[in-house]
Amino acid sequence: MSLVPMRALLDHAAEHGYGVAAFNVNNMEQIQAIMAAAEETDSPVIVQASRGARSYSQDSYLRHLMLAAIELHPEIPVAMHQDHGNSPATCFSAIEQGFTSCMMDGSLLEDAKTPAPYDYNVKVTREVVAHAHARGVTVEGEIGCLGGIEDGHGAGLTGADAMAHLTDPAQAERFVADTGVDALAVAIGTSHGAYKFKRKPTGEVLKMEIIAEIHRRLPNTHLVMHGSSSVPQELIDVINRNGGEIPETYGVPVSEIRAGIENGVRKINVDTDNRLAMTGAVRKVLHENRGEFDPRAYLKPAREAMQQICRERMIAFGQAGHARRIPKATLEDYASLYQAGRL
Ligand SMILES: [Zn+2]
Repeated sequence: MSLVPMRALLDHAAEHGYGVAAFNVNNMEQIQAIMAAAEETDSPVIVQASRGARSYSQDSYLRHLMLAAIELHPEIPVAMHQDHGNSPATCFSAIEQGFTSCMMDGSLLEDAKTPAPYDYNVKVTREVVAHAHARGVTVEGEIGCLGGIEDGHGAGLTGADAMAHLTDPAQAERFVADTGVDALAVAIGTSHGAYKFKRKPTGEVLKMEIIAEIHRRLPNTHLVMHGSSSVPQELIDVINRNGGEIPETYGVPVSEIRAGIENGVRKINVDTDNRLAMTGAVRKVLHENRGEFDPRAYLKPAREAMQQICRERMIAFGQAGHARRIPKATLEDYASLYQAGRL
């Protein structure tokens, strides 16, 4: 199978009431971990690359890793997504590289730091939708601003500032009508990175009622939760027991994500948990075997640690068991559907 449009995965997820994790990829071990977990659980896959990842992997390495993934796992549908495109040009270059989905994050200006006016967001997102849909490529937009910073991307909002930039459901409805995006990232109090909350988040910290209201207004738009790592204490403990110094921190409980899925969330971005799992595994090997110098000796356990997180999330979000049930779809199929006004 070739890469599939992300929309094909999200439509199936909506039809059957589950969510799909989107895992970030920078290198071979991470793609191998995701694909092994998908194979084990029969899960559809969304892999995503930030601008930082594309630059780290020089685009070509990443593209060939993706080709290897679909060659080795022909029964698993895989969508390749540009995470947080900061401009139409970034999205267009991703599409040229064979990505089947892109995020135009016009909630921030091109500097990827400054919150942008609504009209700017609509203008750049529309431009990307026109270009992408003509090629069958899926588009995710963002309305409201997420907290934190990820790979240098983000307004760095915290506390009251972040609360002031939560998504307004009425504006979300208008934004989807104005742009035609397939998926919409919403700000409900999550933030990027490992340091999301200083105490265990409750339903009051995460504004689930905003998601419910957006879903009521936009039942056909796939909602996306960013910054949705759970930051499990046991992963922090492995790092800190082996020479790390990660302060006390909490992420988004899987139970809250499942509540989101019940309210129209179809894509859940998970990166930090995988980073923590890999780092803990590497630290443990090097701490316990101070004479070790073969990279495979620590990268293999790192890959296994990430695979375990991916497997757990795939099962928790409900995507497990669906890979082989998803109808085959190509970019050409989706280009025709968009052109015919059927999506
Ligand atoms: Zn994000």
